[in-house]
Amino acid sequence: MDGRRGGRAPAAAVVLTSMKADPQLQRRLVDLADLDIRLSGLAHRRQELPEQAALDELEAERRSAAESAARASIQVEDLDRAIAKLKSDLQAVRKRRASDSSMLGAGGLSERQSTELEYELGSLARREENLEAELAELDERHSALSADVQHSGDMVSDLDARIATAVSERDVALADLEDAVTAALAERAREAGELPEDLLALYTRSAESAGVGAATLNGNRCTACAMDLDRSSVSSLRAAAADEVVTCPECGVIVVRTATS
Ligand SMILES: [Zn+2]
Repeated sequence: MDGRRGGRAPAAAVVLTSMKADPQLQRRLVDLADLDIRLSGLAHRRQELPEQAALDELEAERRSAAESAARASIQVEDLDRAIAKLKSDLQAVRKRRASDSSMLGAGGLSERQSTELEYELGSLARREENLEAELAELDERHSALSADVQHSGDMVSDLDARIATAVSERDVALADLEDAVTAALAERAREAGELPEDLLALYTRSAESAGVGAATLNGNRCTACAMDLDRSSVSSLRAAAADEVVTCPECGVIVVRTATS
């Protein structure tokens, strides 16, 4: 049984860090946090680079066009074989018709032989007609498929050109990002180099555990967690000497008091 519990809110977590730093140095922690936010924004932009997404899309289109071209080419090759077979069948039928006709023309055949030959000539004529119709149909399909191969090939060439442009655009965007990262890192190193080691270590711990190293107190709101702090926390933050390094009782981030705090 805890007799002291009487519905009061728990006391605010300790906000003093037992570290002291000149208020101006504390404000530099916020500059450092701004640089860290800029750096993580740049890292995020690199992950989500629109120029890379555009390139990925073009490469996917190219893969699909190349697959279509390959499929159509295989079909054209199959048709080439079927057409060659039909042509050779047709040639055999025509040869047979010619030899039957000359046999019939030469005469000297029995009536039965003549009837059989005439009958065969009739069926050879029908067969030739069918083969010619089949050949015409395959020729038509061949032209259509060849046009598909041509079209897909043109698309692949067009996409190759667009991919080359997209690659250089992506490379320019990446190089710009690298420049921005290099500049921000140099600025960060300069800023960090001017801070005392223990203060920087505290900032780093805050950044690692809360994701943000330091933030300002804006009125009674911590700008790191966007929480409005309770009255007792705010008054203890305000009551702390200006050179006391304090943290937010809600998120644990170093809070820097400014003119608007
Ligand atoms: Zn906070």
